[in-house]
Amino acid sequence: MDSYVYQIIQHISLWFFFLLPILGYAEIHYRIPFLPSRLYRKEPEIIFDLPIRAQKGTPVPLFLFIKDTHHFPVWLQSVRITIVNSHTQEDKMVELNLDLELKESLYSETIWLDPNNFPAAGEYQINACLNYRDSRKRERQLIQDNYRGIPHPPFEIRISEEVLPKQEDWYWGDLHFHSNFTSDQVEFGAPLSASIEAAKTIGLDFLAVTDHSYDLDDQPDDYSKNDPQLKKWSLMQDEVRQLNLDSQNFCLIPGEEVSVGNSRGKNVHCLVLDEKLFLPGDGDSGEKLLRNRPTLDLPELLRRKSADSLAIAAHPVEQPPLSQKLILRRGTWDIDDFSSTELNVLQILNSGNFESLENGLKLWQDLLLRRKKYGIVAGNDAHGNYNSFRQVKIPLLKMDYHREHLFGEARTAVRSPGLNRKDILRSIRELRCLISTGPFLNLEIHHGEQVAGIGDMVRIKDKSIIRITGISTAEYGPWQSVQMVLGNYQEKREIKKKIDIPLNNHQFAEKITLSDQPDYIRLEGFTRSGDRTYFCLTNPIWMERS
Ligand SMILES: [Zn+2]
Ligand SMILES: [Zn+2]
Repeated sequence: MDSYVYQIIQHISLWFFFLLPILGYAEIHYRIPFLPSRLYRKEPEIIFDLPIRAQKGTPVPLFLFIKDTHHFPVWLQSVRITIVNSHTQEDKMVELNLDLELKESLYSETIWLDPNNFPAAGEYQINACLNYRDSRKRERQLIQDNYRGIPHPPFEIRISEEVLPKQEDWYWGDLHFHSNFTSDQVEFGAPLSASIEAAKTIGLDFLAVTDHSYDLDDQPDDYSKNDPQLKKWSLMQDEVRQLNLDSQNFCLIPGEEVSVGNSRGKNVHCLVLDEKLFLPGDGDSGEKLLRNRPTLDLPELLRRKSADSLAIAAHPVEQPPLSQKLILRRGTWDIDDFSSTELNVLQILNSGNFESLENGLKLWQDLLLRRKKYGIVAGNDAHGNYNSFRQVKIPLLKMDYHREHLFGEARTAVRSPGLNRKDILRSIRELRCLISTGPFLNLEIHHGEQVAGIGDMVRIKDKSIIRITGISTAEYGPWQSVQMVLGNYQEKREIKKKIDIPLNNHQFAEKITLSDQPDYIRLEGFTRSGDRTYFCLTNPIWMERS
């Protein structure tokens, strides 16, 4: 009887895990007694990964992550890397002898590829082949990773002639990212040190690490148990502190993606950056079967957080699948959730895909036209996943491969007096930022001696002069269209005014005299390179009539 009950419980848990969101690199060793796993193999998880972009003339990091060699030792023998220029088909080969025995929980190695392998700007395809011996001393070989049931196409990286477009005092970053502090039955993330190297290679200046509240409260070596001492959370804080001391010209921001109750009692996600206290939230963790009430509600969370940490509504209107709504009580942010002055930032962009912005943009416009001073930022919700997603789709059964939510693809640019977390976070709170997948737009209002920038409020008597600057590069292509969006509180609507920009230009600077006086002005612009469109959306400058 006991074993029968046990089996039933296991079946329920299996079904339950199937409903959980899985985003990180696939963990293949999770088993349930009496049930076969099609993912399981007596080998560690072995994964190569690589950032999506690099600057011409700089070395490119190729990462090798190997998990669970303390249970499944391996002998690494050699690596052969093939680099093909997608345009000319010219190829280069890099070979390395490793001769290394591994017995640790997570091994991370960075192979720096010499810039000579990437002689011209453009797209490159990379295949990484590893020769190794498994615990039974059998000779094995893999390309990209040793996962079963997913394709193994070449990695893709773009080598750019130019740096990410921007003006002085602006910094680029990714504000939503999960690291190896996420690790459970079905997934794990990439180490922070490797993620900094990947971010720097892409051209980012800052990165916020935002692992889930329900992962950060686990015991460091056992995800199935919570730890009242919060050792994992403290380890994360310590590692971030040390990495910031060690790295120059880069800012790693410690954070947490807190599961919190919205006004309807549903679990939604709130990023809290640079908070001194751990904020609990495990309503949608799936750790407690059928107990899914939010730990804290939003007003309580915002009361508990310290005044100088920054709260951001994470992917506020991204619809969770029906199964997660039902089982995990997951929901979306509602207009009633935006009543506290402690939260004025929305992460409406959660991947490089413009279409995914639609509902987020509607929510933001709605808030703006209700006279609320809200701003937008971008992140990717990548869990490692620098070049592709290789994740468990159905536990024990099925894997998935795709190239969305890639690390560093959707970016936030921040106008800040310095590259440190205090200045960056203060500037985001003041909404001196924009979101982009490549090009850069800036907006200024000149009024006598005064200059107001993105995020500012200006008091204007008569005509005002607006300066608009657009910067793109060969990588993101010439500007296709740029429009001013003028918000009008009285009429409760936004009016779009197309700006005449010279055709086929990568850079422009326009001066416009504005005779009508809107309540706010913001910009939207699009560039095109090859068959891809890139976009940039700025936060508003607010205008007060006097
Ligand atoms: Zn989330
Ligand atoms: Zn997330």
